[in-house]
Amino acid sequence: MRTQVGIIGAGPAGLLLSHLLAGHGIESVVLEARDRDYVEHRVRAGVLEQPTVDLLRASGVGERLDRQGMVHEGIELRFDGAGHRIDFAALTGSTITVYGQQEVVKDLIAARLAAGGTIRFEAKATAVDGIDGTRPTIQFEGGELACDVVAGCDGFWGIARDAVPAGALSVYERQYPFAWLGILAEVPPSSKELIYCSHERGFALHSMRSPQLTRLYLQVDPDDAVDAWPDERIWTELGTRLAVRDGDWTLGDGPIVDKGITPMRSFVVEPMRHGRLFLAGDAAHIVPPTGAKGMNLAVNDVRILAEALAKWFKEGDEGPLDAYTAACLGRVWRAQHFSWWMTSMLHRFPEDDAFQRRLQLAQLAWVTGSRAAATGLAENYPGVVGTRG
Ligand SMILES: Cc1cc2nc3c(=O)[nH]c(=O)nc-3n(C[C@H](O)[C@H](O)[C@H](O)COP(=O)(O)OP(=O)(O)OC[C@H]3O[C@@H](n4cnc5c(N)ncnc54)[C@H](O)[C@@H]3O)c2cc1C
Repeated sequence: MRTQVGIIGAGPAGLLLSHLLAGHGIESVVLEARDRDYVEHRVRAGVLEQPTVDLLRASGVGERLDRQGMVHEGIELRFDGAGHRIDFAALTGSTITVYGQQEVVKDLIAARLAAGGTIRFEAKATAVDGIDGTRPTIQFEGGELACDVVAGCDGFWGIARDAVPAGALSVYERQYPFAWLGILAEVPPSSKELIYCSHERGFALHSMRSPQLTRLYLQVDPDDAVDAWPDERIWTELGTRLAVRDGDWTLGDGPIVDKGITPMRSFVVEPMRHGRLFLAGDAAHIVPPTGAKGMNLAVNDVRILAEALAKWFKEGDEGPLDAYTAACLGRVWRAQHFSWWMTSMLHRFPEDDAFQRRLQLAQLAWVTGSRAAATGLAENYPGVVGTRG
């Protein structure tokens, strides 16, 4: 099999890249390890920044997003038993849209297949060869794909990054001493907006995926197994952490339909290109989900990559491909800093003493009490400012 761009991974990065390339008349084949049903039901991110929404809409996959996406003008920070709203719209004129990552994936798969695009499900890539030459190949379970360019969109655990020769990549990494237990529950959200809660017992997040589905997270020990968290324990812990002092808010509960534990990590490799291999999305960088940036960064990478590949295929101009890493990294590092900052402000670290907790509460009081500090959060959360990318 032969194509122009061989794409490994049918997550948001790989699918959107294939879709954007098709808009430029460039052929691609997407190889995906899992089956279609699995990738269409994998519950992950759900907060889209405005530039992400704009790109999906402009590229023709925004119809269901516009109908079902929930536009939010702010979030709540809850600590010390009281809620404080950060009003993005008032502070920076920006909004976010809540729309599940699996819905974005469904829309992109439908668009690619309707346009005659090729997505090979259950076709796990096993090796990438020849990236230092002009005819790279991807070996996958079931065959070989020859291409001009390989896009490694296969997430953190993929194989594309490993094709880069030892020593050619610099790795920047931080592991956090906690994980997120995430659940999806069949119950209407208990709040119109997301609630980020810092509590003595650890972080909690109230989010949603639709008017009928609530998404909730708890900071847990990274070594915890899902079995250690039966439903009753989860609801009790969520109720304790999210409780308000004046008692005029209650958390609705319902059947839990998805449950998983995600470790927290910050990770970046530089550069994001080696020869004819380009890394995009989680294959190149991971952020802790506290800043809701992961999927948005993946979308931004492939936006830049699709434009650069179009210049190269159509005009032979290699400049934008050479500039790919630099064009992405400004935004990546701004998001890294913001995600680390949110994570540090809201979670309990094992080494934290009573002094550190009081510093945390003082910071939260400042972020919610000062217009200047709140504006910093409101600039970063719905979009990313102060970057080159
Ligand atoms: C469990 C979990 C929960 C998350 N929750 C949130 C959240 O709440 N908020 C947030 O903002 N972000 C969250 N994220 C991050 C966000 O989902 C990612 O940033 C986003 O999925 C990145 O998209 P991607 O396309 O780069 O990678 P992925 O979505 O990981 O897609 C990679 C694809 O490649 C496939 N693949 C892997 N290896 C191979 C191979 N060898 N051959 C072929 N295919 C392969 C995978 O099956 C997958 O379909 C979460 C991530 C995880 C893992």
